[in-house]
Amino acid sequence: MTRLDELSAFLTVLGGVARSVVVAERGFSRRTVDAGVARGIITRPRRGWIAATDADRQLVAAARLGVVLTCRTQASRLGLWLHDHRGRPHFAVPPHSAPQLPVDAKLHWGRVPLPRHPDALADPVENVLAHIAECEPFEQALATWESALHGGLVTVESLHGLAWKPAARGILLRASPFADAGLETYVRERLRWLKLRVLVQIWIAGHRVDTLIGDRLVLQIDGAHHTGSQRSEDIRHDAELLLMGYRVIRGEMCASQGCIGRIRPCEEHISARGAHARRRPPRRSVQWTHEHRSGITGELSEERFGRLSAGRSQ
Ligand SMILES: [Zn+2]
Repeated sequence: MTRLDELSAFLTVLGGVARSVVVAERGFSRRTVDAGVARGIITRPRRGWIAATDADRQLVAAARLGVVLTCRTQASRLGLWLHDHRGRPHFAVPPHSAPQLPVDAKLHWGRVPLPRHPDALADPVENVLAHIAECEPFEQALATWESALHGGLVTVESLHGLAWKPAARGILLRASPFADAGLETYVRERLRWLKLRVLVQIWIAGHRVDTLIGDRLVLQIDGAHHTGSQRSEDIRHDAELLLMGYRVIRGEMCASQGCIGRIRPCEEHISARGAHARRRPPRRSVQWTHEHRSGITGELSEERFGRLSAGRSQ
């Protein structure tokens, strides 16, 4: 193995991008780095930094711009749920700095719970959550936090040991590690005012249900993957739930804000008609088709939803 091969392997260990001083401290000479650059194996994204040519492009960009990937940008890289993955990048920069960047970006200067290593190009998840708490609306931030908890990237116990700003503390008080997708967080939060027991991600009849409201109202939230055999299995499970005395509302909900923003008519009918209370004989399942899902998207009238909630014929 040549010295250049060793340098390439060392860069891989460091994530593909490193400060030149770190490489030099490891015993790699300027001449070796220059040879790598001449052969197209190594680039210099910024003075004092080198990168493998196959390195993560976002990390290379962070080194070139002198920023740290954080908030929504790093949350997306970590696979966390985001209300909307689109939009400009979010970078952390040193306090009191005013970098002139060639791209439109949201900059974060604020204090974070974990100190940043000077060589870091991406924030740890705790710092990402801290910025999310400040940057996103409460409900959306809560959904991202719960995504991190559900994915095992953090635990409630570990988060309680850190110093948070007020917004993050408020989210931590409400966060549950059991919400699978952000939409479940939304539903739970929107139903909170009903002061009913709302359980998410529990098992009934051998299957997981998204939300149990009160004693018997099951709210299932279908994504785009609920098709084919999955759809058939869902219908069979709904039938089992009905025989056990539960009422099932199944909706195909998309991740757009409109789908969530009009759930209130559903809440009011749930409350007014007592669909959550175990006091009526089993009803048939309400299957929200493409036409029906507007019950959450808003196209389904309150009057029609009332009939659905009451179990009468459509
Ligand atoms: Zn942000």
